[in-house]
Amino acid sequence: MNYRLLTASLLLATSQVTSAAEALDPRITAVLGDISATRIEQRIRSLVAFGTRHTLSETASDTRGIGAARRWIQRELQDCSKAAGGRLMVEMDAYIEPAGNRMPRAVELVNVVATLPGTSPASKERILVVSGHYDSRNSDVMDGQGDAPGANDDASGVAAVMEMACAFARHPFDATLVFMAVPGEEQGLLGATHWAKEARRKGLKIEGMVTNDIIGSSTGDKGQRDNKQVRLFADGLDPLLRLLVQARTNIPATEAETQANEAMRENLQQLVLAGGSEDLPTHQLGRHLKAAGERYLPGFKVNLIQRRDRYLRGGDHLPFLERGYAAVRMSEPFENFNYQHQNVRTENGVTYGDLPEFVDFAYVADVARINAAGLGSLALAPASPQNVRLDATELTNDSTLSWTANTEPELAGYRVVWRSTDAATWQHSQDVGLITKIRLPVSKDNVVFGVQAVSKRGHASLASYPLPQRR
Ligand SMILES: [Zn+2]
Repeated sequence: MNYRLLTASLLLATSQVTSAAEALDPRITAVLGDISATRIEQRIRSLVAFGTRHTLSETASDTRGIGAARRWIQRELQDCSKAAGGRLMVEMDAYIEPAGNRMPRAVELVNVVATLPGTSPASKERILVVSGHYDSRNSDVMDGQGDAPGANDDASGVAAVMEMACAFARHPFDATLVFMAVPGEEQGLLGATHWAKEARRKGLKIEGMVTNDIIGSSTGDKGQRDNKQVRLFADGLDPLLRLLVQARTNIPATEAETQANEAMRENLQQLVLAGGSEDLPTHQLGRHLKAAGERYLPGFKVNLIQRRDRYLRGGDHLPFLERGYAAVRMSEPFENFNYQHQNVRTENGVTYGDLPEFVDFAYVADVARINAAGLGSLALAPASPQNVRLDATELTNDSTLSWTANTEPELAGYRVVWRSTDAATWQHSQDVGLITKIRLPVSKDNVVFGVQAVSKRGHASLASYPLPQRR
């Protein structure tokens, strides 16, 4: 029984697996090559030169405050778009944020959003988002007047996103890429929350979101240095818990949102009950970003941390996570708290403040490249296979996986990946060709499986976790 499938799998096991997967795509290497530490330095210094970019700072001046900063970001991105043929669409997503917790009054906030539409009809609905926050703060989170240079937090992330937008704009990618500079992070993730909410309302298919926040320094507070490592916070269990809480506390939502929440909750619940609590879409995104980043930047380590952020701290990926999207955070390996959320000053010979002199611009460029490798390869990959099932109706030590066929014309076939239950990343893979069912001589009880769709140029989708087959 199923001998044909097993034979097919064993024949394929040794043939087409590794070469296609490990080939570097020239479009992505071109993007990585275009990312410039010098330009990143210039942009960080330009952002710092606005004095403060506090969300409550003034907006009329052309030289100081958050208004001048956002108009400058917009102009820079528009210039890049023009230079690259005009495909990058730059929009000001303005809205009124009402008075609230860290908002003494209602203020107009503006997300600067640059969209590079996907060029493949089969993939352009899939969206990949990358962000940094352009607001800054000093010791007093409510101080909209005093200097708040925010070189690392988070001009580093904004400069990386701008550099990526400008580099990607010169090349066609199958899926849609969205590059975002958002305000209000320090006042409560406000700009990102607004955009994520709207995305959910419009039913946008965001496949992955990466926020770059504090990616500027390779040196820690004890002088330790590691410029070949970035932390990637990736945990997706949070939305399930929140949705369960939301259902109980009955937070008002539109009918469509309620339905979407319901479907998402059911889906996540099934996944967790089937042992997939470490295989939610956010975990798969984290695995992909690590694998792609380390493949394109040999010697650089993406330190995958399975937690949504640092203890009691947050970032702009959270509003996406909480709306059911796969979302992760990149951050430098160490943090020096003398240089974060501090008034610029010297005390007992110690310098405080988030100044450009503490930023390692070459390191920021490498983190941007890690982002670009992961986002670029996903933007060229097919969608994740749907309806992946593991047949558990018969007692056997083999595993039979099935899925629905993808529709992309660029599809080459599927790849089954697996790992030990105590491993964080995929350890084995097998390309199985253009089939939708396979029996493997590996026990489903001992490993964790995933199924990826692979393009003709070797780009693999995020893995889909198999739910148990129901009869
Ligand atoms: Zn920040």
